Amino acid sequence: MSAHKRILGKSDLAINGAAPAYKQPLHVGRPNIGPEDVFFARARDIMSSRWLTNNGSMVRELESRLAEYLGVKHCVAMCNGTIALEIAIRATGMTGEVIVPSYTFVATAHALHWQGITPVFADIDPDTHNLDPSSVRNAITSRTSGIIGVHLWGRPAPVDDLQAIADEHNLSLIFDAAHAFGCSYKGTMIGSFGQAEVLSFHATKFYNTFEGGAIVTNSDGLAETARLMRNFGFAGYDNVIHPGTNGKMVEICAAMGLTNLEVVDSVVRKNRDNHQAYAEGFASIPGLRILPFDGSERNNYQYVVLEIARESHLSRDDIIKCLHAENILARKYFWPGCHLMEPYRTLNPTAGQALRNTEDVASRVIVLPTGTMISIEDINTIVSIIRTIAEP
Ligand SMILES: *Cc1c(COP(=O)(O)O)cnc(C)c1O
Repeated sequence: MSAHKRILGKSDLAINGAAPAYKQPLHVGRPNIGPEDVFFARARDIMSSRWLTNNGSMVRELESRLAEYLGVKHCVAMCNGTIALEIAIRATGMTGEVIVPSYTFVATAHALHWQGITPVFADIDPDTHNLDPSSVRNAITSRTSGIIGVHLWGRPAPVDDLQAIADEHNLSLIFDAAHAFGCSYKGTMIGSFGQAEVLSFHATKFYNTFEGGAIVTNSDGLAETARLMRNFGFAGYDNVIHPGTNGKMVEICAAMGLTNLEVVDSVVRKNRDNHQAYAEGFASIPGLRILPFDGSERNNYQYVVLEIARESHLSRDDIIKCLHAENILARKYFWPGCHLMEPYRTLNPTAGQALRNTEDVASRVIVLPTGTMISIEDINTIVSIIRTIAEP
C-alpha cells in the first residue's frame, strides 16, 4: 500500500520516507539457474580431472547437447557472444560495410567496428521491432558485404526476406540470435538460418553459462573455420594454420550450461506464465501493451516489453522513475539506439534521418522483470503501481 501513496504524491517520490515496495531490488535479467547440487557435482569432476579448458569433455558434451536441442549440425562454444559474433563475421568473410539494425544491443555493431568494418544501420518495423527489409534494401551500397539480422526479444527477424535480399545481392547473412535460444521461426528452431547464427549465454540471457556464447551452423566448412579461429588457428600441436584469437569456453562454464539445459523447459513455462500475467494486467490500461509473442512458435518469453502508445499521455521516463523508487529496476532497452552511441554518433551524425522507427520505438519501450525469481504476486504489484500512474 505504501507503493500507491508514494506514487500518488509523485512530486516527493524519493523523499517522502515511505518504504519502497521492495527492500531488495527486482532486477531485469536475474539469472535462471539449474539445481546447485548438480552443478557442484560437475564442478568436482572438473577439479578431479584437472582439465579446466581447451576443448574439454564438458565443452564437447555441451556442444553436442546444444546442437541436438537446436536441431543444427554444428555448435562451436565460445567464451561469450561478442567474440562469437566477431569470429562469425570473419569466418563469413564480411568486409567494408555490413547492414545491421540500430535497435539492438551495442555489441552487434561493435563486433563489426572492432574489426574495421562499418556497421550501416537499417530501420525497424515498429510493429515487430525487427529489421524492415525495405530499409535493408535501401542501405545496400557497392561496399556492402553482408547483413546481420537480430532476432530481437527472441522474436524472429524476417528471415526469408533477408535471405532473399542476401541471395539477390550476393551478400553474407548471419543472425545475432543472442535473445532467441529456444525460439522458432515457421516451426524450425532458431539456429539453422543464414550461414550461421550466434548465441549468447551471458548471465542475463534466457539460458546462461555464467558468460558464454556459440556459433551454430549447418556448414561444415564454417564450423571448422570457427573452431580454428577460436583457438589461435591451432590444428593440433605446434601446427598453426590460420589466424585466430582466444574464444574458448572454459569447462566450468560448460558445466553450468549442461546443468541449466536440464531446466530450460521449466524456465520457459515460468516465463510464459509471467508474460501472460503481465499481458492480462496491462490489457485494461489504455495506451499500454505488452509486445506479444506468436503462440504458434516456440518462444522463451524472456523479454517482457512494455510499449507505451505513441499518442499516450504517459511518459516512459516517469514510469521508470516511479518503478525505480519502488526498487523495481525496470529498464529502457536499446535506448537511444546504436547510431546515437559512440563511435557511431560521431562517425555518422545524420544516420537518424533514416531511422525514424528506431528512434520512435526506442523512446517508448520499458523492459520489465521476469524469470524464475519473479512471482505472479510481484507482477500484480508492478501492474498496479503502473495503473496508479496511468490514471489521470
Ligand atoms: C547480449 C547480447 C550480445 C552479446 O553477448 P555477450 O555474451 O554478452 O558478449 C550480442 N547481441 C545481442 C543482441 C545481445 O543481447
